[in-house]
Amino acid sequence: MDLKVQMEQITQERFGLLPERCDDRQLYEALLVLTRRLAQERPAPEGERKLYYFSAEFLVGKLLDNNLLALGLRDQVRELLTSWGRDLNAVEEQEPEPSLGNGGLGRLAACFLDSIAALGLRGDGVGLNYHYGLFHQKFADNKQREVPDPWMEPESWLIPTGKSYTVPFGGFDLTAKLWDAAVPGAYNDKANRLHLFDVESPAQPPENGIDFDKTDIVHHLTSFLYPDDGDDAGRLLRVYQQYFMVSAGAQLILEELEERGYGPHQLADHTVIQINDTHPSMVIPELIRLLTAKGLTMDEAIGQVSRTCAYTNHTILAEALEKWPMHFIERVAPQLAPIIRELDWRAREVCPDPAAAILDEHGLVHMAHMDIHYGYSVNGVAALHTEILKRVELKRFCDLYPQKFNNKTNGVTLRRWLEACNPDLTGLIDRCIGPDWRQDPGRLVGLLDFIDNDRVLEHLLVVKQSAKERFCRQLRDAQGIDLDPNSIFDVQIKRLHEYKRQQMNALYVIQKYLEIKAGRTPEHPVTVIFGAKAAPAYVMAKHIIHLILCLQKLIENDPAVRPWLRVAMVENYNVTWAERLIPAADISEQISLASKEASGTGNMKLMANGAVTLGTMDGANVEIAELVGPGNIYTFGAHSDRVIRLYNDKGGQRYRSLDYYHTPRVERLVDFLLSPELLETGDAKALAALWRDIKGKDWFMALLDLEEYISVKDLAVRQYGDRKAWARKMLVNIAKSGYFSSDRTIKQYNEDIWHL
Ligand SMILES: *Cc1c(COP(=O)(O)O)cnc(C)c1O
Repeated sequence: MDLKVQMEQITQERFGLLPERCDDRQLYEALLVLTRRLAQERPAPEGERKLYYFSAEFLVGKLLDNNLLALGLRDQVRELLTSWGRDLNAVEEQEPEPSLGNGGLGRLAACFLDSIAALGLRGDGVGLNYHYGLFHQKFADNKQREVPDPWMEPESWLIPTGKSYTVPFGGFDLTAKLWDAAVPGAYNDKANRLHLFDVESPAQPPENGIDFDKTDIVHHLTSFLYPDDGDDAGRLLRVYQQYFMVSAGAQLILEELEERGYGPHQLADHTVIQINDTHPSMVIPELIRLLTAKGLTMDEAIGQVSRTCAYTNHTILAEALEKWPMHFIERVAPQLAPIIRELDWRAREVCPDPAAAILDEHGLVHMAHMDIHYGYSVNGVAALHTEILKRVELKRFCDLYPQKFNNKTNGVTLRRWLEACNPDLTGLIDRCIGPDWRQDPGRLVGLLDFIDNDRVLEHLLVVKQSAKERFCRQLRDAQGIDLDPNSIFDVQIKRLHEYKRQQMNALYVIQKYLEIKAGRTPEHPVTVIFGAKAAPAYVMAKHIIHLILCLQKLIENDPAVRPWLRVAMVENYNVTWAERLIPAADISEQISLASKEASGTGNMKLMANGAVTLGTMDGANVEIAELVGPGNIYTFGAHSDRVIRLYNDKGGQRYRSLDYYHTPRVERLVDFLLSPELLETGDAKALAALWRDIKGKDWFMALLDLEEYISVKDLAVRQYGDRKAWARKMLVNIAKSGYFSSDRTIKQYNEDIWHL
């Protein structure tokens, strides 16, 4: 049936109105209903093997635009709305952004689902349906405030399946209800599913803030993503969440296996489970438990599960490698405890090294160790990260199981991160090289043929300029901040963490501020734009946000500095803001301490939109640098090997921030945190705590790279002035970004690990 007729039917039925008479909200709902139905009707891709991608997070972003694109209806719907005098963009504004992830890891899972479907592979996502997600970030008194983010609406992409599973917790059972969202594949007529489990009777919205009774598991299990783990109740709730997800997911897998006509002995032949970071690791003992309950021996069950599960490592930060006290597991899922002990015992037979044990002498269960011993693949997420895993962090495991280790450099779906968020640039690319790069992103290198084409280079600058102007309007509407679109947009958008070193960027701002105050203006006005949420319990990260907001305020009130230097922090940075900001960025800040950022994916999105990277040789920045060549990226900073030595050396080589603090330039910048100017708007205690930390500890070595960072950034600012040369850098970055399509990543997962 024709789209117009279907829309008319839906709006008549729901609102008693023709589409022309509906408001944007009603049109959004009607389009949601229509698109959801068309996606839902699509059959699953065929295949003897099926993938289940387990992840505690799926940061999917708004879905209407994405799904219209995948269904091949975007242009048609846009025209239809235009014929009614309406604008698809305005209608899309109505959609709430699902708050089902934190940052990179959750966004990766979403990009992967998009690519798995686009490639026509049979693979579903499995996760949890958090009612208030992470939190909504507000700024008040130059600080982050966390308020609940009730993103769910009665009509959403999720539909109830009617299926439910009983999860046996210690002392009580809890029903897991299954909700599904269809994931339509671009370029085919199939759809996979995102399966999200929820409790039967979720709690009412919290009264104020994001505090709630963490012991009320029955009602609160799915209230928040990663509830505050500063206390035992919060940590225990995380284990409840994890077991809830994997137990229900494992039951779903075995049920579908049977429906597909296979027995439990055939699990590994027909199923693959990708464990996205350690949060879903308990799926291993849970599946073993369920298989033995179906009559398999322990040996058989372990054999099947070990040939089914594959593990992705996302970090070498020690605090992120999960270790749960065995007594937590005995309380949450006592039936898993003997299985985990058995797995530990068998692993010790293979490898007596206590450092490789699953259960250590403190009674802690090392989730990653369980994944490595009982998974058939272990992958890192960028070449450098995988090398560090193999050579340093997981060396003993790599010596034991060399064949399990492999690299899968992350990627991003260019459908969302180029086609959907930057139609002007997409149009320019199409005019240069035609449309085929969509299904074969490597073809973007064809853009290099235009490196000396002045019209294309000029057009590229025009596209960037209009994206910057559009972003300025959006920021003005949202936060009342008026930026100068003719300044350089220097963009650092990512979760706030000390290793990502937003504090180093803030110190750059201080350097420029002091220079301008001393009468030395930069060669080009610069706007330093931040977007970042800090975890509610991460005190130092919140102090860094405070510093940035204080700098923003200080400069806003200083008419001498304002024309040359601005700071803007976007409130509640999320996928929607990323989609607005990324097309507008001139410089992509990727300044993590080398060895600490496993891959990064923001770097890839920004590159594909013509931002030039200013970064350390960390994560996928290394691969970006190799692809674009030294003239098209600004790199600086200590090498990862040196950083690792600075951490591990027991003697004089060890990093001491004081040594770096006591240089004339650095001391002045750090001490500015305690200056009267800043204290006028700032919280003296917070700024002093940050000052003490940077001066005396600086665990992520911002001071180590600071001076080099400042000079390289100054170089980028100078070179921005040569507009044609800069446009060439932009073009090279876009041309080489095809490698970072998640379609490429997923093809590699499939060829090397999944074999779907
Ligand atoms: C891509 C993305 C991230 C990851 O950014 P990194 O720079 O790789 O840390 C985080 N949050 C959102 C909303 C994103 O879209």
